Amino acid sequence: MHVNPNFEKLPGSYLFAEIARRVKEYSAANPNADIIKLGIGDVTLPLAPVVVSAMKTAADELLSTDTFRGYGPDFGYDFLVNTIREQDYAPRGVTLAFDEVFISDGAKTDTSAIQELFSPDTRIAVTDPVYPVYVDSNAIAGRLGNFVDGRWSNLVYLPCNAENGFVPAVPNVPVDVIYLCYPNNPTGTTLTADQLKPFVDYAKKNNAIIIYDAAYKAFITSDVPHSIYEVEGAREVAIECCSFSKTAGFTGTRCAYTIIPHEVVGLGAQGQKVELNALWKRRMGTKFNGVSYPIQRAAAAVFSPEGKAQCAEAVRYYLRNAKLIRDSLQSQGYTVFGGVDAPYVWLKCPVDSWTFFDTLLNQAHVVGTPGTGFGPSGEGYFRLTAFNTYEKTAEALERMKKL
Ligand code: PLP
Repeated sequence: MHVNPNFEKLPGSYLFAEIARRVKEYSAANPNADIIKLGIGDVTLPLAPVVVSAMKTAADELLSTDTFRGYGPDFGYDFLVNTIREQDYAPRGVTLAFDEVFISDGAKTDTSAIQELFSPDTRIAVTDPVYPVYVDSNAIAGRLGNFVDGRWSNLVYLPCNAENGFVPAVPNVPVDVIYLCYPNNPTGTTLTADQLKPFVDYAKKNNAIIIYDAAYKAFITSDVPHSIYEVEGAREVAIECCSFSKTAGFTGTRCAYTIIPHEVVGLGAQGQKVELNALWKRRMGTKFNGVSYPIQRAAAAVFSPEGKAQCAEAVRYYLRNAKLIRDSLQSQGYTVFGGVDAPYVWLKCPVDSWTFFDTLLNQAHVVGTPGTGFGPSGEGYFRLTAFNTYEKTAEALERMKKL
């Protein structure tokens, strides 16, 4: 057999693998260096007590024949689906049907798999810089052409930079799918409802759809939508992916959910309208085994009054770190973005972003993420994350001051 040739087109090593390689090499040469990591976006605080308690209770249920569970429903247990509808969406004025909510093991899983519903010639647009998963999953499927000089030949890039205030313009060429992520990884910036509306209008006018990644919505403190469905007309054109990873520290525990309203359609071979909801059900039924019962019980506990309070405390902790990073870098003369509604601070670096990475690693023993790893418009920028401890974050910033 021949392997999928699209893998050969993917650029060298994945961003975080290259970062890990450089850190490992530096640590081997400098074993005494105390390296502080403000790089990868993984949480560090433990799970909320009420979440672990729900997980344990559910595990105990599996000890008895009466309450044992085998294969779960393909799209999630009723108790979790209904909790999400009632606790997450209804309070924002968004009404979802029961079968529009799909429980999964990750927003990465879903944002990378959703492209299986698109025809091979679907034209894709992403904001730039971007979470690499949307791009790589479409590249592996063969939709993006060739990777030349840091750009995919068949991908439409929507630049987000200091010049446009990180507000992307709608595509000026025809596209079928637009990936949006707000609060944004890596820039930490958000869009208001008025800034999102042109994308919804574009999609409606051009028979396009939006994949909206809301993985960081728990970090919103400003008056911006938590869901794309708060924008008028979005139900007709948008799929939304959410996650418990950053909301509730589930990066190791694994649980997420995707919303596909019945109104969202694509065209079939005869030009007829086909509901993406139906296709996703078909795909999930074939390829997905569900999230385990104890984990879905743990996820539901996130929405209990105690769960909300305990998870909000962790989010506040990370946002305090983000504010510290913002304030300190600004006082050091850097231009910074994000960090108000997101655990990411995006700074303009004085040199190219890999040089800045190496300088920070070698001279301050601090690890961040070079912006260029997120797309062509990321060059000249650098991402620091708020997921380390407050003390380590403060120490890293003190070291940067001395650079
Ligand atoms: N979406 C974005 C924008 C992310 O930054 C991440 C993780 O860093 C994910 C999705 C992954 O979410 P999950 O852990 O649910 O797969």
